[in-house]
Parts: sequence; structure tokens; C-alpha cells
Amino acid sequence: MYYFLFVFLFTVSCTTDHGISTSGGDRFIDSLLSQMTLEEKVGQMTLYVSRWAVTGPTLNGDVEKELRAGRVGAVYNAISVEYVRRLQKIAVEETRMHIPLIFGFDVIHGFKTIFPLPLAEACSWDLSLIEKTTALQAKEAAAAGLNWTFSPMVDIARDPRWGRVVEGAGEDPYYGSLVAAAKVRGYQGADLASPATLLACVKHFAAYGAPEAGREYNTVDMSERTLREVYLPPYHAAVAAGVGSVMTSFNDLNGIPSTANRWLLHDILRGEWGFRGVVISDYTSINELVNHGIAADEKEAALLAIRAGVDMDLQGGDYIRNLPALVREGRVPEALIDSAVFRILKAKYALGLFDDPYRYLDEEREKKTILSQEMLGHALQAAHESVVLLKNDTVGGRPLLPLSKKVHKVAVIGPLGDSRRDMLGSWSGAGNSGDVTTLLQGIRDKLPGAVVRYAGGCELTGDDRSGFSEALALARSSDVVILALGEGAWQNGEAASRSDINLSGMQEELAEAVLNAGRPTVVVIMAGRPLTIARLAEKAPAIVYGWQLGTTAGTALADILFGDYNPSGRLVISFPRNTGQIPVYYSMKTTGRPKSDQKFTSKYLDIPNTPLYPFGYGLSYTRFEYSGLSVAKDTIAFGEPLTITVRVKNSGDRDGIEVVQLYVRDVVASVTRPAKELKGFRRLSLKAGEEKTVSFTLTSDDLRFYDREMRFTAEPGAFRVFVGRNAEETLEGGFYLKK
Ligand code: BGC
Repeated sequence: MYYFLFVFLFTVSCTTDHGISTSGGDRFIDSLLSQMTLEEKVGQMTLYVSRWAVTGPTLNGDVEKELRAGRVGAVYNAISVEYVRRLQKIAVEETRMHIPLIFGFDVIHGFKTIFPLPLAEACSWDLSLIEKTTALQAKEAAAAGLNWTFSPMVDIARDPRWGRVVEGAGEDPYYGSLVAAAKVRGYQGADLASPATLLACVKHFAAYGAPEAGREYNTVDMSERTLREVYLPPYHAAVAAGVGSVMTSFNDLNGIPSTANRWLLHDILRGEWGFRGVVISDYTSINELVNHGIAADEKEAALLAIRAGVDMDLQGGDYIRNLPALVREGRVPEALIDSAVFRILKAKYALGLFDDPYRYLDEEREKKTILSQEMLGHALQAAHESVVLLKNDTVGGRPLLPLSKKVHKVAVIGPLGDSRRDMLGSWSGAGNSGDVTTLLQGIRDKLPGAVVRYAGGCELTGDDRSGFSEALALARSSDVVILALGEGAWQNGEAASRSDINLSGMQEELAEAVLNAGRPTVVVIMAGRPLTIARLAEKAPAIVYGWQLGTTAGTALADILFGDYNPSGRLVISFPRNTGQIPVYYSMKTTGRPKSDQKFTSKYLDIPNTPLYPFGYGLSYTRFEYSGLSVAKDTIAFGEPLTITVRVKNSGDRDGIEVVQLYVRDVVASVTRPAKELKGFRRLSLKAGEEKTVSFTLTSDDLRFYDREMRFTAEPGAFRVFVGRNAEETLEGGFYLKK
């Protein structure tokens, strides 16, 4: 412990006023706190970006100068063992208190090895896969000297115009909560001090995923019932799984920006949920309280944020410029600062940084871990499991997919067919395009004996059709065509809201022209959100939703197209028919005038109410049949378990994976309830011809909601049960919950 042991031995008797129990670590931290100046304390509450990628405006000057003055507690975007060591050395050897820095980074879906986009991987419905992915991301990033990731993002999102829909697990709170917990377990592991784990940071608290009109950073206005039932559960699940930090969101919620929202940060997060870790602002979100119009200047913004419960200022420099004065003026009690610093130092302690500030820094480990076979092997598996087969028509007597490997001439057409950068997707960490296998390369590797040719046809945007003729000539002279369409990495992610989520540019026209050429054509869509593809879906015989799958994208897609992996992904977000239908999600309410053939009912004149592809949807190269839904009892009492079983048979001739989904509807309640709510699922592996019985257990706990008085409770009465392959295709049963 070097210097720290010395400090500790001479100051063990200090007291705490933050009310957190004093373990050995706590006493050590208190002893440090008691020796720190006010400026040094606020320095610990300050995080700055290093010279690397910046995601917003940089307000601050020379970070190193600040660091030497003890005015920085954390740095982010500093990557590589070499650079981290240099900065850590300054903190530990040159500052008065010798307190190590913590190093953060947005490891969202990978560090150097890029795994599928989070929304894509969520479509695996494979929680152990997801947990392992985050564990490997942590291992790789920690090997480059990092300690902290600003992930997982668990914002429920039902509006795919919002570009950050890509970072979450889709539209459903039950599933989103399971994914949130799995990711926290994966990143943090059993021991934060292990050099293979990262401190996780759940974000963006709260309801960032529901901006008006899907426009980034926009206002969120929603009932407390919806907030608590739909948007809060995944954050709560992350806290229950032990997440060490929470990031506030940019948006205002019912008039109060999250970064100044004491009800969210203090009453709910710390009070109701018992969160004891660090709360960090989002990038300059403290300063932005001025733009929100709830603070007259930065000083008032700092006052609002610290009072609300924000411990650390991400990049804004507002705390370090203003908190010391606010304390001296008696407007902020120093005890508030002490509590925040205590939590930050405690995180550093848990990471083992006081034991050895250089424990994460090992060039050998860095070299061995980054892009290792272990990483790439798992990235390929995750990519396989993320892909969703949307359509597979019969062409010439058999389903078009999988394609035969005996094919001679293959055309890959479309702007994404040979794009490396776009396969990494948005928020792709420190990933390098050079490490990516494109779709074209993946197919060439798969078919060494075939002629595989490529034509871009058009760009992702603009109205240039000059590449059409080359693309059409290529299509006409090929046995099979793979059309690679979708979004560029820049078209989704932060600050990438779209008012029209169509296939941009000339892509749809290109697709039509190529489909008219009459060759067997498979459309592969690579995107970070559901796109509106209704027209294409009518015409194209086969559609594979390939998202942006990361480093191994092309290999994974080729495996699927040519039958070496049987698609098993299922949508975790409904696909709208057109942009005007947004938001459309499976758990909508019935309304007082459910859709019918009559005029004055809740519907559109031009499209059905249902989405193009529902939540839970996805095809396989085999078929699954459901039968024998059985609900064990007609009536259950509170707390009594109810068993629901169903038989699922693989009636095709290939082994496959089915995701069996259980939904429930509360028929009559004191407040209106969703038409269906997911309550369970099983990812089931079935050999060709095999049949299994799947069993679920429900209790009244699973039936709880916020009643008319905002009590979280279940109400007696009738319930419907639905089990099936997606939110629309289900078998149905029912039961009663008695008083
Ligand atoms: C994003 C956060 C991210 C932070 C740091 C912000 O713009 O909203 O999700 O963690 O930047 O990069």
C-alpha cells in the first residue's frame, strides 16, 4: 500500500459523518478524507476526457496540469497500458495526496474486439452469452489499463427514431431487466479488484429512452406509473445486481432534468433501492442545467446537482470551479462533499487501486488478451446468435435459405457489402476497421471455389444511380444475389435520431431493380435499429436482419446464409410498418375502442395496428410446433405457484433453437393494463424431430403493477396466459387469482 499504509496508521481514529458503516476500507478512506483540502476533495469529484475520442464539447484546458494540482479524480478515454501508466504515475507520485486515478471508457459492445451491437445481441435471448460477452469486454479493456466502463445502457426504447435504441435491449422491461443484471454480473465479476473486471455504470438514469418525437436529448414527460412500470425496472435490476455506479441522463423528466433530480437520485435510487455507489453526471450535463433553464449560471447548476445527489462531474469542470466556493459560502455543507468523495474513494478501494495503483498495467497481458482467440471465438458465437431471419420464402420448391455451397457465381451488391467500418457499428470502443471481416470477405472465405463479385450499386445517402447498371449486370450474370443494405454506423447511436427510418438514399430503388432482375436474391440488412422495410418485405423472397455484428460480422453472416448456423435470434423490438406508426410495441393497451371493422375504433385508415414484425419474432431453418398448453390450476391464491406447460416440437429436418415466450394479461384491474406482458421465456434447443415439454412457474408476485393508489400489488381476478413463438402467435389459457 506504499504511502497509503502510512497515512492509515497515523489517522485511524477519524470519524465519519456520511452514515456509511465503517469496515477496514471505510476507516482507511475516512483517514484519507480527513487529510484532504476542500479543493482536493472536489478534485476527486472531477472526471476529464483525455486527448482521445471526444463525444461532445470539451470545456477544459490542460488535463495534466489539473491532474498535478490534485484537481482530477478520474480520466476517461485514456487507453493503452503505456498511456494509463504515465497518467497514473503523475497522480500517485506527484500529487500531494497520492490518490490513484480511475480510468473510464465507453466499453459498450467491445473494446478492441467488437461484439454485436447491444440491441442485436439482445435478440439472442441468451443471458449467459450476454453475461460472458460483457465479462470478455471487461477482460480486454482492463488489459489495456481501464477500470471503469460507462455501460450497460439499459434505457427502454420504444421509438426507433431515437438513435440510441441501438445501445439497449429493446422495448420490454422484464427482458431489459434480465439483460441489465446479466451485463452488470459480466462486467464486474465476483471481484472488482481482479485485473479482468471493470466497474460498471448503469445509464442513463432515468427514462432517457423516451424523448419526445425520438429526438436526441429531448424532453421526457410521462406518468409516474409508466416510469415505474416500464422505464425504471432495468436500472433497478442493475442496482440489485450490485452495479457500482450510475450515470444520470441528459433529459428533463416531467420538468426536472435528471442531473438535478433529487427525487430520482436521492429518494428512489438511494432511498428506495439502497444504492451506495457513485452517481456520475453525463457529459457536461451539470453545465447544461443552464440551457435547460433551471439554473441561472454554472454555479447554480453545481449547487442543484450536488444537492440532487450527483457525486462526480463528467467533463464539465463545473464542480471544481464552483463547489469549493459554494461550501465556503455555506450554501453546500461540506458533509455532502465528504459523502460523495467517500463513495468515489470506496470505488477506487474496491478496484484494488490503493493496494497497487498499477495492478491493471501489464503490457504482456495487454498483448495476449486483445483480439485473442478467446475474444474472437465468442464474438463469432454472439454474432451468430444475434441474427434474426425475417423472411424465407420457398423458391423452386424449397426455402431460398440456406443457400447451397455448390453455387458457382455469387453477387454481393449494396453499399454495405464490403464495408468494414459500418460493421463495427456506433460506439465501437477502440475497435479498428482493419480487424473486421466484411460480408464479401466472409462469403469468399466460405466458398473458396466460387466466383464472388461485388458491386456497391449506390451510396447510403444521396440520389446517385450511376452504379445501378454495373450492379444489375452483375446480378444478371450470377446464380445468386446477396443484397447488403441498411445503415452506416454513423446513422445510429448518440445524436443520430432520424425522422424517417427508411432505407436511406437510393437503396430501396436499387433493391427493386436488382429483385426485378429475377435472380434468387437474399436481402441482408445491417442496421442499428428497426428500419421501415414494408415494401421490400413484400418483394424480397428472403430477408436476414444482420444488424452490425462487429469484428466477425462477415464470417457470421456467411455461416448463416450458407447453413452453417441455423438462425435463432428473435426481435426484442417491434418493427413498425412505417415511421408514422411509431411508437408501436407489443404491450400497448387495448383502449376503449379496440380495433374492429367499425369506423370509430382505435386504428389507422391506411395500415393495420400490428407491427410489420412483432416483438419476439424470428424464423429458423426448421419449424417448431406448439401444442398442449396446460395451466395447472383454475385458481391460485396469493403466493401460490402456478405451473404452465406447453409442448414444443421441432417438426423440420434440422436441429434448431426456439425461444418459447410466456405472456400474461390482467383482464380487469383498477387501472388499464397492457394487452400482454412478457413474464418468462426459454431458449430451447431441439434436435430435428425432437419434442420437449417446457414449464413456467408464475406467482402473484409476477402479476404486480402500480394500482390506482400507486401501490405495487397484484389484484385478484381473471388472467389470460399466452405461450408461443412471438407476441402475436400464441396458444391461450387462463386462471383466476383469488382474494
Ligand atoms: C453519452 C454517455 C457516455 C458519455 C461519455 C455522453 O455523450 O451520453 O453515454 O458515456 O458521453 O462518453
